Order: sequence, then C-alpha cells, then structure tokens
Amino acid sequence: MQQTSRMLTPREALDIILAHVQRLPTETVMLMQAVGRVLAEPVIAPEDHPPFPAATMDGYAVIHDDTSPWREVIGEQYAGHVTDVVVTPGTAVRITTGAPLPAGANAVVPVEDVEVVDDHIVIRRDEVRPGENVRPVGVDIRCGDLVIPAGTVLGPAEIGLLASLGFARVTVSRRPRVSVLSTGDELVEPDAPLGPGQIRDSNRFMLVAAAERAGAEVIWAGRGPDDVERLTELLRERIAESDVVITSGGVSVGERDLISAALRTLGTVHIERLFMKPGKPFHFVTAGSTLLFGLPGNPVSALVGFEIFVATALRAMTGQQPVEVEPVTVVLEHDVESGDRIEYQRAIVWCDSDGTLRARNTGPQSSARLLSAVGANAYLVVPPRATPYRAGERLQAILRGPVRGQRA
Ligand code: AMP
Ligand code: MG
Repeated sequence: MQQTSRMLTPREALDIILAHVQRLPTETVMLMQAVGRVLAEPVIAPEDHPPFPAATMDGYAVIHDDTSPWREVIGEQYAGHVTDVVVTPGTAVRITTGAPLPAGANAVVPVEDVEVVDDHIVIRRDEVRPGENVRPVGVDIRCGDLVIPAGTVLGPAEIGLLASLGFARVTVSRRPRVSVLSTGDELVEPDAPLGPGQIRDSNRFMLVAAAERAGAEVIWAGRGPDDVERLTELLRERIAESDVVITSGGVSVGERDLISAALRTLGTVHIERLFMKPGKPFHFVTAGSTLLFGLPGNPVSALVGFEIFVATALRAMTGQQPVEVEPVTVVLEHDVESGDRIEYQRAIVWCDSDGTLRARNTGPQSSARLLSAVGANAYLVVPPRATPYRAGERLQAILRGPVRGQRA
C-alpha cells in the first residue's frame, strides 16, 4: 500500500500510522519502578477498602444512642494496635484516626466534643449520630470494583492505590525501544567549535528528550552523514533492534531522495508529504514491525512531527488511553495570517477570569526558530483560508502542557 502521491492531511496521516501500530508485549515491574508506565490490564479490587470500620478522628468510640450521663473509658485502640475490648452502654474507648472501631461501638466522638474527668468522659453535645466519624468497611472501594482501567499512565495516585490494595508489582506495556538518528554533513556536537557552514545538532537532543518524555526507552542516538549507503547501513542496524526509528533531516526538496532512497530500500513507504506547516516533508515507513519516521531537519518541523505523529504512535503501541489529544476551542487574542496548508502555530493558551480559553502565538513562526516552541503550551491549528483570522475568532488548539489561570 503506497500512499505517496498526494499531500495527506494530518488526520489522514494519523489514521495510516495508527493502522500500522502493533501493541507491544507486557512486562511486570515493581511499584517503585512503575511511574509513567502504561497499565496493561485493568486493576480489579481484590478486597474491600477500608478492610475494617475505621475511625476518621481522634476521639472516643461510643454507642450513639447510649443515654448514660457519663461513660467510663475502658481501653484504648490505636492505629495498628487492636485490642479485644468491647464497648457496652456506659463505656467508651479512646481511639485514634485509622484505628478499627472496637466491637459494640458505632460512632466516634471527637476529643474536642468531650470533657475528660478522671477515667470518665462526658459528651458536650446532645446528639451522637450512628456511624459518625467512622469509615465503614468497603466505603471507598468494594471487592470486585474496577479501580484503574487498562491504558492508564501510572502516576502517584494510581501507584499509591495499587499498594493500598496489596499489589507490590504491576503489569505494564514494555516501553517502546526507540533509536534517533540526525542526518546532515553540517552537524556538529553542541560543545564543538563551529566551522564554516556548520550548525549544532539540536534535533538529536530534542528528539531523545521528547521520546523519553513520551515514555520510550531510547536505546541509541547518533549522527549520520549525507550518504545514502552509509545511512541505509545505519538504519538497517537500528531497525533490527528498535520498535521505532526516528530520523531528522535529508527530506527537504533538494535532498528528497537521500532519506527516501534509504528508507525505500528498507521498508514500505506509506507517507512522504503532509498538507501541514511546518513539517510538509514527512516520511512514514514500516519495516517488519518497526515503524520509521523521517522527520524534517528544521528543528520546529521535527518537534511538531514528533509531537503530533510519533508521540501518538508511541501511545498506541503501549495501549495508552486516550491515544489522541483532543483539541480545545480557543479565542484568538490577535489576528493570525492563514497559509496554504494547515498550520500548527506554537502558542500560549490561558484561561481568563470568565473561564474562556484564549490564545496568542509565540511570535515569528519560522520552522527554524525553535524559540517559537519554548514556553508554548499549545499548537494553534490554523486551517487554510482566503482571509486572515481575526482577533476574537475561535480556532482549535492542541494542548502540549498545562493551562494557567492567568495570562503568562
Ligand atoms: P534538511 O531537512 O536536512 O534539508 O534540513 C533542513 C534544515 O534543518 C537545514 O537548515 C539543516 O541545517 C537543519 N537541520 C537539519 N538537521 C538538523 C539538526 N539535527 N539540528 C539542527 N538543525 C538541523
Ligand atoms: Mg540535511
């Protein structure tokens, strides 16, 4: 299936990419290693939570409708220290938060509401409600409840919940193994002196960071020359070891054949160009179960290509839900020129005091100007139109970071 003849919309491209994604195998990891991993199977509660009726306040365990004018304190029940004391009419048990309610009692009166006289207490109010300040068995979670769906990225709350339910390990998707290859004879290392016509290889560092943040394991990152034979050899090695291979550079008009030629000999080319800006030259190739993404050399184009397409493929490979980032509707703060392709402008979206999401772009949107992506929490999606978009018009934005309540 070669679909290289016309420029595909980002939507069409994503559909093609997602159709070629295969789910990665699962593995079991210790909870301490589980943050950021994608849950492979739903978590079903194996027991009730809390497992016993627990006090939610420090106070006295009593019988709510016991009419005795005062109660004898017959024992203490501390969290983790269970006694076999039984509360009967005319008695109370000192209890701390998290301790099991002693037999016979059905309420906890907080210390603030109690007067202690020697070894007796007097409750300083008329009524005690049954169940007051007690978490009944299973009130939070019932045995058999689905508590975390498969596809969830495990964060602190999920990991804490797993521990509370007795899981020391968790089954997650294996992380995608990713290789990153920068191409270009002009590229040097960040700490090398710049010779004539040389630039620093920023894409390799950026794409490794992007892949790691997307949950991938970057198994290799390097630089290759503008030489088809050498690139083909390098890529062949990378394909053998990787779930995903990402290249940057070698796809602009003058050089189209360089990376295309290498990729074509290695697999099936599904996408070559996109109806989007930045990032028109974009290669998507499959070789066996390995996905190859040939991103443009311009740093912003490479970043947008990664975040819109590669990151989505990585999420799909691990079964992460949701796979796609749904756009939000934003109100333009200023006029925006429209181009002849769908443009992904780097933008800042914030929430104003009315709750409206507003957007401004980050200035000049040249695909070489990586500064346009620094601090940007969104891509403003600008479809082609004969006339510019005006301040106050609505557009869609794809969030790439948290939205603040005030303009930054
Ligand atoms: P290319 O797609 O190889 O024609 O590259 C397009 C532009 O991006 C050129 O100006 C390249 O110098 C630049 N470029 C390519 N690769 C990188 C890289 N790894 N880091 C920074 N700039 C790059
Ligand atoms: Mg190049």
